[in-house]
Amino acid sequence: MNAVIPILDVEYEQPLPGNACDTRHAWARVPAEPSPQERRELKDRIRRLLKERNAVMVSHYYVHPDLQDLAEETGGMVSDSLEMARFGRDHPAQTLVVSGVRFMGETAKILSPEKRVLMPDLDATCSLDLGCPIAEFSAFCDQHPGRTVVVYANTSAAVKARSDWLVTSSCALDIVRALKDQGHRILWAPDKHLGSYIQRETGADMVFWNGACIVHDEFKAFELEALKKQYPQAKILVHPESPADVVALADSVGSTSAILKAAREMDAKEFIVATDNGMMHKLRTLNPDKLFIEAPTAGNSATCKSCAHCPWMAMNSLAGLAQVLETGSNEIQVDPALGQRARLPIDRMLAFTAALKAGQPGGSLVPHIGAA
Ligand code: SF4
Repeated sequence: MNAVIPILDVEYEQPLPGNACDTRHAWARVPAEPSPQERRELKDRIRRLLKERNAVMVSHYYVHPDLQDLAEETGGMVSDSLEMARFGRDHPAQTLVVSGVRFMGETAKILSPEKRVLMPDLDATCSLDLGCPIAEFSAFCDQHPGRTVVVYANTSAAVKARSDWLVTSSCALDIVRALKDQGHRILWAPDKHLGSYIQRETGADMVFWNGACIVHDEFKAFELEALKKQYPQAKILVHPESPADVVALADSVGSTSAILKAAREMDAKEFIVATDNGMMHKLRTLNPDKLFIEAPTAGNSATCKSCAHCPWMAMNSLAGLAQVLETGSNEIQVDPALGQRARLPIDRMLAFTAALKAGQPGGSLVPHIGAA
């Protein structure tokens, strides 16, 4: 059985009293660009504070280029959510400053409960996380007993704690394939587009939660085809959180890390890229001789809420980062008992991907269905 079941529609454009999460609210909170002098001063202040506080920066590819460059320059990391989690866990610094969205900070805290995890803005969240509240998700799981619960990293600690496996877009295919090979039937949450892509690729028996990323959900196949006619030599790189008709036009489908790899290795000089446009900074820095064009989010039937950039990622700023380092505010807290339970599926994912990296079959870490 393969089904998309409508669970909950999250309306992002209607602010609710006291709710800090709709996109208009988020865009209103995006800080102004600093002047060149302010930028220099903020960077100097952050460099000094990182040393004084024994802290390291961990930034996602979708945040402001300043936060990506400074992370690398100061010995931190810029990456996708899988490698951010691993890096934060393994780095000796006692304070992690996570530039990204809330679930990334929570994952870092779950993996390193003894460390202090700070974020530039604690209201930076994610439509996938917001659209998958624990009470409804738990009821959905109860309706499907016997299914292995696989959730995407973009979820709350409580949803992770209710799951069997965590995945990110860079390892979801491998993990679901291994689960299928061991006889598992899957309950997948929350991204319906990524879930249906994985289902098409693996043929696994899956039921889906009805969530979407407000950035990738906006890419438009009709307009993408028109753009491709203007750049007939361009290769199309698509993140699998995009709708199926957009994925169908891709020359390469994959996570942010896979998109970077494809751009480096494919024999082409022009690329149309369907993912958050924060990625363009890394793509252009690493491939200065290549042309990267944003895939369209506008056109027929467009109601663009994001225009290819995540409003919550955009809330991260140099000023916010300097402030939290200075004051120790915006610390991520996760209930220790919940964190312990949420850690199990994360550890499974990290062990699986570490085995794959080491050239071992990750599938040996997946129990056959019916086994303990
Ligand atoms: S880009 Fe999409 S998946 Fe990523 S944090 Fe923003 S809303 Fe969530």
